[in-house]
Amino acid sequence: MPKRKPAIVTLGSHSALQIAKGASQEGLDSIIITTPKNAGMYRRFPFITKVIEIPSFADFPSVEKELLGDHNVVIPHGSFVAYLGLEKNKDMKLPYFGNKHVLDFEFDRKKQLEWMDDAQIQSPKQFTDSASVDRTVIVKTYGANGGVGYFLARNPDDFNSQVKQLGDQKYVVQQYVIGVPMYIHYFYSPLTDTLEIMSIDRRYETNVDGIGRLPLQHQDGLIEPTYTVVGNSPLSVRESLMPKLYEMGEQVVASSRKLISPQGLFGPFCLETIIDEHQEFWVIEISARIVAGTNLFMNGSQYSDLLYDEPMSTGRRIAREVKTAWQQGNLETVLHHD
Ligand code: AMP
Ligand code: AMP
Repeated sequence: MPKRKPAIVTLGSHSALQIAKGASQEGLDSIIITTPKNAGMYRRFPFITKVIEIPSFADFPSVEKELLGDHNVVIPHGSFVAYLGLEKNKDMKLPYFGNKHVLDFEFDRKKQLEWMDDAQIQSPKQFTDSASVDRTVIVKTYGANGGVGYFLARNPDDFNSQVKQLGDQKYVVQQYVIGVPMYIHYFYSPLTDTLEIMSIDRRYETNVDGIGRLPLQHQDGLIEPTYTVVGNSPLSVRESLMPKLYEMGEQVVASSRKLISPQGLFGPFCLETIIDEHQEFWVIEISARIVAGTNLFMNGSQYSDLLYDEPMSTGRRIAREVKTAWQQGNLETVLHHD
């Protein structure tokens, strides 16, 4: 066990403020690696111990050497996937909170589907052959790119005429589910083998969330729907649906233990769902890390309040897990290992 208290390292964007604040609340140091454009913003916050500048996020490996040491723990978030990519994440030498093998299942939508099927959670029907498109579908490219470049199609001709714009990008074709998007933020602790619901949000996506404000006759042909996330708002779910939320989260964790060796999924994750008119949940994606929707809850949520008598954000929950593991001489349990 490292004698020195662990320090939290993360890229300065996405949910870095929440992660660093959480570290500080747990008495841990935080190091934010960011670009010159963002550095000044992070320096405004005295709870951040150190801000290191790099020319671009992709240059992260260049500072790794100076941070190497058994007490600096990297906390991945959405920007790690978006700006560093799969290989640079995997090549990272710093101790990493989470299981990196989960990234393969995040990047590859076919593997995600395999995971959801194994977990026995309901996901929208996927189409592998364009000729069989018999309802409205959403065509989604790979990676956490916030819905940029997605499109809708109603039939095979419609699909074929639009799919060309994707070039050689990989994509999936999914049944479009009409309902309320609900993003459930979980935390699974490998130390106590418990699943917690930290908070729930819904996203605001432009321009799909704008088109409903127009009368129908003005909607027709006006825009191509896009799904670029620009904000989030908090959500409370009907209490009678809560057992289902726990059930889905637990099934996803249990299945990850089988599919994603050696440690399965642990730490923060999010099930991105849509609830239809029958109150059925359709899981459209598993995000196996902290999601930006948790930024709403720096001070905790109604759900974290049920579990903790103090403000508990997901960022703080991560820091607490790292600290507890370290105090128990068990830091390895929350770090990636092959
Ligand atoms: P940013 O730090 O804003 O450049 O975002 C980094 C990554 O996280 C991008 O892939 C964004 O699409 C995603 N992201 C940022 N903010 C949010 C949000 N509020 N909800 C969901 N995803 C987000
Ligand atoms: P994703 O990149 O999978 O998180 O999807 C981005 C956004 O596209 C979601 O937040 C939803 O608004 C929308 N979306 C994705 N998949 C579906 C689906 N199968 N049915 C309806 N909307 C979807």
